[in-house]
Amino acid sequence: MRYVSTRGQAPILSFGEAMLTGLARDGGLYVPETIPTLGKEEIAALAGLSYEEAAFRIMRPFVGDAFSDDEFRSAIAKAYAGFGHAARAPLVQLAPNHFLLELFHGPTLAFKDFAMQLIGQLFQIALQRDGRRVTIVGATSGDTGSAAIEAFRGLENVDVFILFPHGRVSEVQRRQMTTPSEANVHALALDGTFDDCQARLKDMFNHFEFRDAVGLAGVNSINWARVLAQVVYYFTSAVSLGAPHREVSFTVPTGNFGDIFAGYIAKRMGLPIDKLVIATNQNDILHRCMTTGRYEMGGVKPSISPSMDIEISSNFERALFDAYGRDGGAVAQLMDEMKTTGGFAISQGAMEWLRDTFASGRVSEEETLETIADERTVSGELLCPHSAVGVKVAQDHLGAVPMITLATAHPAKFPDAVEAATGIRPGLPPRMADLFDRAERVTRVPNDLSALEALVHERRAR
Ligand SMILES: *Cc1c(COP(=O)(O)O)cnc(C)c1O
Repeated sequence: MRYVSTRGQAPILSFGEAMLTGLARDGGLYVPETIPTLGKEEIAALAGLSYEEAAFRIMRPFVGDAFSDDEFRSAIAKAYAGFGHAARAPLVQLAPNHFLLELFHGPTLAFKDFAMQLIGQLFQIALQRDGRRVTIVGATSGDTGSAAIEAFRGLENVDVFILFPHGRVSEVQRRQMTTPSEANVHALALDGTFDDCQARLKDMFNHFEFRDAVGLAGVNSINWARVLAQVVYYFTSAVSLGAPHREVSFTVPTGNFGDIFAGYIAKRMGLPIDKLVIATNQNDILHRCMTTGRYEMGGVKPSISPSMDIEISSNFERALFDAYGRDGGAVAQLMDEMKTTGGFAISQGAMEWLRDTFASGRVSEEETLETIADERTVSGELLCPHSAVGVKVAQDHLGAVPMITLATAHPAKFPDAVEAATGIRPGLPPRMADLFDRAERVTRVPNDLSALEALVHERRAR
């Protein structure tokens, strides 16, 4: 299996190389050269399997010879062993034909654990085998960073630096990043927004001298291995509702477009998905883009669903690559235009492709709170604000095909919003009940590339 860049100018890599590299050297994102498919019988045969066995069968064709079957199976087993639910990704029913996929039973209570725990295990195997050391730098709006730190803490061949926007993550998210005491963990509070964090991260990757000197590796949602890990639960949930004999639809609370892009990959692999619905909060650049055909930045407004407070939706580039018939030059041109003018217009043909492939909706802050309150009454479920954004948009797209909304975080990760909506303050699961008593360790950093690079040089182990 070979991986190519969405901008068409970077070296073609194997799965293992693409995983360790993250962002391609031409600034693009790696995607598989071709998408393997599963036949109807192979999909039907997933019914009743453990999550781990299904994960092995679904992901195996993408991995090539980067890992042996034994290595890959053992990585999957270790990745999901720490989850607090035997089903890993259980499905509950909200209403007739509307289901909620609970993706928050991992160690940091958000869906990002599905990918990050697996990546941690795979990095460990690959680096130990080659006797290599890498420096992982990640940018986070809250959940990626905590999931990355949880996955890489204490690993021998890795230093992990996480940039988060100072004052713009929830207290639970912050504490999950600042309380691990392992020496290879470095939490950095940046003076700026999430997009600033993501921009400085991209700058580091584009500064090849620095990138090579510290062995920079990326685990942000642009990392193909993360997208791949997220493909699995689209299959397991659809199969438990009758796929491949019955179609299903999905609504996905969306920020960086990684999670919903995994749904698109599941569809390309042969899973019968009717609609894939993008749900945005008030930071609705993707919904506006789907409506108007222009991707246009206008500033991020902090919301009660902070993990979706994003304007530069990195993985959308992967969708654009397919929308433009895999023309890397066309994608590179759009991205250049965005850098210089803050936006770009999408061609009519590409827009038709996008509207055939995705639907979209936008939810205000008030509607998010109302949905949390209503759902508590109607089904008894306590939703985190991100999941509530998904549920609200899904309700507007319900039809004859069963709808699955992705619940991306546990309500206890965002207790203020949930309490404001329902009067109930959700408690942390017992396994992390002492989070508020642990000591914090964090470095405040300026929004400045050379200062950040100097800090990474100084802090990392050699
Ligand atoms: C990261 C995140 C999202 C957005 O997912 P993307 O893959 O970036 O679109 C939604 N909800 C929660 C809770 C998240 O942590």
